[in-house]
Amino acid sequence: MTIDLKNSKKKHPNFVCLSVSAASKFVSGEYTCKTGLKANYFYKSGKVFNNPRWNLEHGLALQESIKFLKTNYKNIFLYDRESLKIKMKIGNCWIFGVPDQVARVGNKLIVLDAKSGESKFFHRFQVSLYSLMISRKLGLDVSEMYLSYYNPRNSNDKFNVISLGGHDEINKIWSNEHKKELVELTNLILSDEPIVPTSNQSNCQYCDWRAKCTSKFEENEEILNLFADVKL
Ligand code: SF4
Repeated sequence: MTIDLKNSKKKHPNFVCLSVSAASKFVSGEYTCKTGLKANYFYKSGKVFNNPRWNLEHGLALQESIKFLKTNYKNIFLYDRESLKIKMKIGNCWIFGVPDQVARVGNKLIVLDAKSGESKFFHRFQVSLYSLMISRKLGLDVSEMYLSYYNPRNSNDKFNVISLGGHDEINKIWSNEHKKELVELTNLILSDEPIVPTSNQSNCQYCDWRAKCTSKFEENEEILNLFADVKL
């Protein structure tokens, strides 16, 4: 491990987990450093997320999303968010997440994840992994998954909803290949095998362990002047 964990707090054994968001970022290629993921599984990084603008905009995204669901579905039942904290296992590894909104129409589920800001590729993995988990937990099929985006800086549409489809789409997004990648990651997290950190700008930029990692990416490449030989 190239992360100095001496001063980091270990998580209580009941709370060790890989988050749905981290698993989704991993398979989508957004954050691929297994060293950081293993550290996050067992330890608290101490990094505090305190972004009032994010909190406000996420709240507004959720508020608009609930309005959208109520307008578009008659007799919709909205589950209480606190009742849908989902914890499951992949191999011997715990995976945990809380979808923003789960609803039921008849005997089918609707799963929505509300985002503030721009869309990212990993979001579709995230909402469909929530859907897979909640469908297993409640024993009901998912008829529709939604991603909603609220961005007050957009001059036109500040609020947008994207429909991703239902059960068939979950299986397309979470193909066997991606499931296998995640199972391999969870096995590695629990093994004693050494892990080589994947140091690059995209992984290290916002990594929770950046301050304690000796392998973090540093911009030190010599900048080449491409047309330096051109005589004017
Ligand atoms: S700082 Fe970079 S190399 Fe170190 S754990 Fe984080 S992502 Fe991996």
